[in-house]
Amino acid sequence: MTMDEDERYVHGKPQNSFHKAVNIPDIVVYPRSEEEVSKIVKACNMHKVPIVPYGGATSIEGHTLSLNGGVCIDMTLMNRVKALHVEDMDVVVEPGIGWMELNEYLEPYGLFFPLDPGPGATIGGMCATRCSGSLAVRYGTMRDNVINLKVVLADGEVMKTASRARKSAAGYDLTRLMIGSEGTLGVITGITLRLQKLPQSSVVAMCNFPTIKDAADVAIATMHSGIQVSRVELLDEVQIRAINLANDKNLPEVPTLMFEFVGTEAYAREQTQVVQKIASEHNGSDFVFAEESEEKKELWKIRKEALWACFAMEPNFEAMITDVCVPLSHLAELISRSKKELDASPLTCTVIAHAGDGNFHTVVLFDPTREEQRQEAERLNHFMVHTALSMEGTCTGEHGVGTGKMKYLEKELGIENLWTMKRIKDALDPNNIMNPGKLIPSNVCF
Ligand SMILES: Cc1cc2nc3c(=O)[nH]c(=O)nc-3n(C[C@H](O)[C@H](O)[C@H](O)COP(=O)(O)OP(=O)(O)OC[C@H]3O[C@@H](n4cnc5c(N)ncnc54)[C@H](O)[C@@H]3O)c2cc1C
Repeated sequence: MTMDEDERYVHGKPQNSFHKAVNIPDIVVYPRSEEEVSKIVKACNMHKVPIVPYGGATSIEGHTLSLNGGVCIDMTLMNRVKALHVEDMDVVVEPGIGWMELNEYLEPYGLFFPLDPGPGATIGGMCATRCSGSLAVRYGTMRDNVINLKVVLADGEVMKTASRARKSAAGYDLTRLMIGSEGTLGVITGITLRLQKLPQSSVVAMCNFPTIKDAADVAIATMHSGIQVSRVELLDEVQIRAINLANDKNLPEVPTLMFEFVGTEAYAREQTQVVQKIASEHNGSDFVFAEESEEKKELWKIRKEALWACFAMEPNFEAMITDVCVPLSHLAELISRSKKELDASPLTCTVIAHAGDGNFHTVVLFDPTREEQRQEAERLNHFMVHTALSMEGTCTGEHGVGTGKMKYLEKELGIENLWTMKRIKDALDPNNIMNPGKLIPSNVCF
């Protein structure tokens, strides 16, 4: 544990988020075992001290801010693989292990874990945010890939949510209650994850389009074709410019789709050809493939680091990142309407979409010293959220609520939903010590 000012400051400050820190934790603790977590939580509960669980700190919506000071529980020393069951294709891990480290560990066994949020994210944080990423279109989100959890509840008791069986009809689904609870119901101390076989072969393809709507239409048509793509990512011309600048690349600066197809070599190739035909029917051009392992890795690494690439355009700016998601049939219209608004704005804005899921992000760059620019970024964010909500969509496809999206929940879910969440919160955390001030809006608190 530490009370060092610098470490408290680092843990209180958002690392990847535009939300401002209003406080820092009073103390940062680094438990090494579930038992230690339990003791810390018990003590905090007894003295009604707020707790903020802390993983890789890659979350976007102010999730890890220490609004009320208190204890920051940094889980990164609990990073062991506890058991690998190759025959069952599952693994039991501690929450502080990163998804990238886990995949390095699994590779020699021909297995992998298919969720890929921000580089540096931990499995515990990924459970807590119900994250997804570029592969969710094929493998689902964190909700679909966790078999069971161990959780230290607010009174310090340790609860197991389910057995290790692949499916079970035994009682309430407490695993899914915890997935996406953002540290507000308990501290996750153990996770059993389902794993996938590393595909025999894969092809990465890129294709250019005259307009972003053409690109979105192709993503939708590809999903309708029944082809099981493993990734469909859409990037607009501004995002490609940022990538070129940051990576010294020379990609055509036009709306672009990136695909990945997996399976046997013949199957991956066949799927590629079908999608190439769909793209050409929608004004797609310059369809290029990568089959070399290093080339493919580099393309996905560039895509994964697209957010950071934006800072090559405006190094001293901050980024507001939006995260709306709509039913697939509305995606093209939502992106077109948003893009008009973004292009008319004085701010530099890029578009990146997990297009196969109807989920898209914009990165809105603003000068943090100029309040009118922050307000303009907020305005664009509101515009996209309200447009998505009018299409039966959501204010957050994958980043979660934190402090930033609370204001939209009533409109999206209805007050009865929020009252129910509050009742659950009250039952499990009556002293409101678990990550207070997050997820449940204050207007339903009392
Ligand atoms: C460049 C970049 C790209 C990204 N791309 C994606 C993407 O494609 N898809 C996506 O979904 N997200 C993406 N994200 C967002 C982010 O990576 C995810 O939200 C991720 O799941 C957060 O994990 P973390 O370990 O960093 O959690 P943290 O930021 O440390 O914490 C997030 C929340 O989880 C809680 N928490 C952490 N550990 C525990 C625990 N053990 N028990 C209980 N609660 C806990 C915290 O209190 C907090 O509320 C991206 C972020 C960046 C910076």
